[in-house]
Amino acid sequence: MPNHTEYSRASVLVVGAGPAGLSTAIQLKVLKPEIDVCVIDKALELGNHNLSGAVLEKEPLAALLDAAKPGWRDTDEAKQVLANVIDKDDIMFLPGRNMAFGIFPMIKMARGMGLGFGQMIHHGDYSVSISRLTKWLGGIARGLGIEVLTSFAADHVVFDGQSVAMGVKLVDQGVNKEGHHQPNYVEGETLQAKFIVLAEGCDGLVTERFVEKAGLKRESPQLFSLGVKELIKVTPEQYNKFTRGRVVHAMGYPIWTPVRGPGMFGGGIVYAGEQDHLSVGMIVGLDWKYHDFNTQDALVRFKEHKFVKQFIEGGTVVEAGAKMIPEGGWYAVPRDPQTRSIGKGNVMILGDGAGFVNMLKIKGLHNAIDSGIQAAKAIVASLDSPNAAAEKYTANVEQSNIAKEMKLAQNFRQTVAKFGPLQGMPLSVLGRWLPKFHVEKDYEMMTAASYRLKPDMTFDKDTFTAVAATAHREEQPSHLRIVDPAICMTKCLPIFQAPCITFCPAGVYEAIHGQPKPANPSNCLHCKTCQRKCPFDNIRWTAPEGGGGPRYKRM
Ligand SMILES: Cc1cc2nc3c(=O)[nH]c(=O)nc-3n(C[C@H](O)[C@H](O)[C@H](O)COP(=O)(O)OP(=O)(O)OC[C@H]3O[C@@H](n4cnc5c(N)ncnc54)[C@H](O)[C@@H]3O)c2cc1C
Ligand code: SF4
Ligand code: SF4
Repeated sequence: MPNHTEYSRASVLVVGAGPAGLSTAIQLKVLKPEIDVCVIDKALELGNHNLSGAVLEKEPLAALLDAAKPGWRDTDEAKQVLANVIDKDDIMFLPGRNMAFGIFPMIKMARGMGLGFGQMIHHGDYSVSISRLTKWLGGIARGLGIEVLTSFAADHVVFDGQSVAMGVKLVDQGVNKEGHHQPNYVEGETLQAKFIVLAEGCDGLVTERFVEKAGLKRESPQLFSLGVKELIKVTPEQYNKFTRGRVVHAMGYPIWTPVRGPGMFGGGIVYAGEQDHLSVGMIVGLDWKYHDFNTQDALVRFKEHKFVKQFIEGGTVVEAGAKMIPEGGWYAVPRDPQTRSIGKGNVMILGDGAGFVNMLKIKGLHNAIDSGIQAAKAIVASLDSPNAAAEKYTANVEQSNIAKEMKLAQNFRQTVAKFGPLQGMPLSVLGRWLPKFHVEKDYEMMTAASYRLKPDMTFDKDTFTAVAATAHREEQPSHLRIVDPAICMTKCLPIFQAPCITFCPAGVYEAIHGQPKPANPSNCLHCKTCQRKCPFDNIRWTAPEGGGGPRYKRM
């Protein structure tokens, strides 16, 4: 169990040791070597809670490391993490279960015409494992003297009086299911700091509580997608046929098809991993309407597709996991209504926590790293006036490439949400000339309709969670709460048949004596889909004790 008291005060406290949080810390040490920085993460080890595709645009990472660690390109870690440089970039359209067309030339044409879709080209980027990237950046941060602490789960920002944030309260440890203290009980301490950086990733618990408390607003609701991913060990022949520098992005079957098919937003990915390993994933917008839809079912159909099957048939799934992506773009960034700052006072919101994912590229890693760089610069410029940090950070973001590319993509996801992929995708070519369409929250889109392309076999969620290596201390109270169980019985079951039981990728929800419950919280993958897709907004996800959750190594 971590010793919290040792680290109870720092100049800068960063919540979340993902790419955004670690980049902040590293850049701070570059700019102000004597500054004391503490980074905390709820995962047992660095990288355990990070899951991504991942195609990485290299510029922000290079800028960060050129300053922090000259000669980094020649290190063994860099050679391992950045081993795959993309030289083949397939963008496929799958009209049905056996048909596939390459549409890369159209995307290239779009780039030539300056259209948003042209951003989908990934030549020269790296195909990486984010777990490994995070672990590597964490090692660099520690080498610079930064405290990077794992198994520290944050609960909420603590205010001094009404408005000034003075620290972050950690989750209590050693409570039993009934809420009583056990012999190992440790009260979650408040870590105090002059500056607080929220880099919790998508739908952060502390972040969303802060957004509410500080009165930050979004112009458009945040939209989410769920990504499920498997790392598959294939034969050397299959790997060589796919090739090391290749990434495939596929649209169409099985989540939207032109003729009376399902009309969901998203697609499949196949990326080359380390030798003889391919990453296969399915990403689906949470605004799906089917009450019995499970993203893993779509992944199965995608893997059965003739184009994908040739590369993975007979392979073994060695790791798997699930995570949400914030898709709402620039309009969904939480801001102070008066100052427009992304955060408030001495608190800044970064990376996926702010929603810096460009959905035309399906990329957020480079923006997460860049937001860390911008936050560090803002902190150093605000050392004598901490309450100016969020505004300075926002000004930096507005001047950066983050704002430039997020603005180019700003209407894309709302247009598709409004008109569906069939009409919305072509319409979104008009990009910034389109108006901002009003969209509903994802959970409001659920209907009683059924998904027609379910695979023949029920997806094996037990094996999925086993390879995600997820675990929590069994005696602790459930970190998943159903707000009003009566709603499940009287409203949800009769119309939707308890979708949480189907869509949760870890099989956490079950009907016990007819009552839907989070029966297996220990299996939870921390994807937070349930809190955003329950059709009655009836689920709350809280942080369990630090150290619990998935243990991704190569996601
Ligand atoms: C399936 C999928 C595919 C993707 N593909 C790509 C891609 O190809 N290219 C690309 O650029 N981007 C991609 N992304 C997006 C990319 O992964 C994110 O933009 C990026 O990871 C954001 O970095 P971050 O540091 O903001 O958040 P994260 O990487 O999510 O890191 C947040 C960290 O905060 C920690 N944390 C959260 N809450 C707490 C708490 N309360 N207390 C303590 N610690 C906490 C977490 O454990 C985690 O380590 C993809 C995402 C998904 C899910
Ligand atoms: S928790 Fe939500 S999705 Fe699950 S049964 Fe209850 S209302 Fe339905
Ligand atoms: S319980 Fe919720 S957060 Fe946990 S894996 Fe299931 S959907 Fe994701």
